[in-house]
Amino acid sequence: MFDHPALLQLTRSVVRIGRLRSTLGLLGWDQETMMPPAGTPSRAAAIGDLTEVVHRMATAPELGDQLAAAEAVCRTGEDLDAKALCREVRRDYDRACKVPPELAEEIARTASEAQSKWAAARAQDDFESFRPYLEKLLVLKRREAEAIGSGWATGGTPSAYDVMLDEYEPGFTAVHVQGLVDQVKPWLVELVAHYAPISARTPALAGPFDVERQRKFGLEVIRRMGFDFERGRLDLSTHPFCSGISPRDVRLTARYDNSTIESLFTLVHEAGHGLYEQGLDWNWEGTPLAAAVSLGIHESQSRMWENIVARGRPFWTFFLPQLQAEFPHLQGLGLGALLRAVNRVQPSLIRVEADEVTYNLHVMLRFELERQLVAGEVAVADLPGIWKERMRADLGLVPPTDREGVLQDIHWSFGAFGYFPTYFLGNLFAAQIYAAAQRELPGLEDGIAAGELTPLREWLRAGIHVHGARYSADELCQRVTGARLDPGVFRSYLEGKLRTVLG
Ligand code: ZN
Repeated sequence: MFDHPALLQLTRSVVRIGRLRSTLGLLGWDQETMMPPAGTPSRAAAIGDLTEVVHRMATAPELGDQLAAAEAVCRTGEDLDAKALCREVRRDYDRACKVPPELAEEIARTASEAQSKWAAARAQDDFESFRPYLEKLLVLKRREAEAIGSGWATGGTPSAYDVMLDEYEPGFTAVHVQGLVDQVKPWLVELVAHYAPISARTPALAGPFDVERQRKFGLEVIRRMGFDFERGRLDLSTHPFCSGISPRDVRLTARYDNSTIESLFTLVHEAGHGLYEQGLDWNWEGTPLAAAVSLGIHESQSRMWENIVARGRPFWTFFLPQLQAEFPHLQGLGLGALLRAVNRVQPSLIRVEADEVTYNLHVMLRFELERQLVAGEVAVADLPGIWKERMRADLGLVPPTDREGVLQDIHWSFGAFGYFPTYFLGNLFAAQIYAAAQRELPGLEDGIAAGELTPLREWLRAGIHVHGARYSADELCQRVTGARLDPGVFRSYLEGKLRTVLG
């Protein structure tokens, strides 16, 4: 903690806001896991009121004064923690204050309405009923981006999309992401063309997979990953997620389906997020120094565990016998056959069900479309048609309905434009960070093959988790891997794995 009164004062205010935000997180977790259905209206009202209180505190002029005083102290000192705190608080404060309260309120109201219209439109496969709400939301979010973008800290005038992206992935711009997409997409499309026919001849693992046994097996896996149940728990929910209430209270949720073991990978994914949250420094709880740096880095943690570790040979060298003990009908299954089954490459319509390779194509499509939407180059009314065209071009499939096309994801319905690229960036970061772990931890994979997963967790904790938002994603990447984000590492990883697993 800090000695200087100005820094202490700012920290105290920030922690108070942080505690209320984590309370909001807890209300949200409860709503998805425990709350009886009839509780919805009271919960919505409680969340609405508390959100308003938090917003008022986060935009209070007193906070601005405290921040200015702390910044004055930082200018003369060399305390990196203090500088990082001021930088991050300034970012949030400016973002929140630049948006006129009436606009913020109108966005919140429209987003909540649009989200319920989207749910109904998706259920009825009726894009037209959702269209006017999406159009309105887009106009409002553009206005918000213009307000935030004026007097942009990094100089120059950012595009509206840059401002939106910056909310989730600070420091990245649309042009940078587009550059990465342009480098990766062509070889990804080739990879799919090459491996999809091979995968089509590989059957998925046949069930049934008793749900209680899946739960038991999954628990053993995440225990070995080092997920700490003294500081975390696992419950059921319709959509699996990880909620970091604090580094000492991290909630995972899972959903099981007895026809497949895919829920295991989802659980490992959420546990990867959970390890990040548990690895944050609780001494700084409530401040940006104990908060994830970006969604891309968060996603790199979940995807590394899910795809690189848990779909890899070392992992299954250890876990296949245990899987077979739980599910005796897999007794005759060899390691090679299992790896082929869990690494199939198959174009499909739904992003959240996509494999490790085609997943990126789903995300790129959304990124390119939302970028054009925000720039006004594509009209909302034309979305369903363009979606189908691009699905045909990129994945060779045309969704028969909008339900399986443009209406499938929730993000746009609450105005989260600029969110999708973080999934793709997460995959790139994951490959590069894991490659660095392999260099720095000799015997890493021999250890994994012996069921020792915690050395990787420890390494990630020391290099990434404990720093919170002290460094930008770009700086963190350079510190941990010795280089800036390089999609070539992702390419070698993916091509290498598919060659060894699928031939
Ligand atoms: Zn995730």
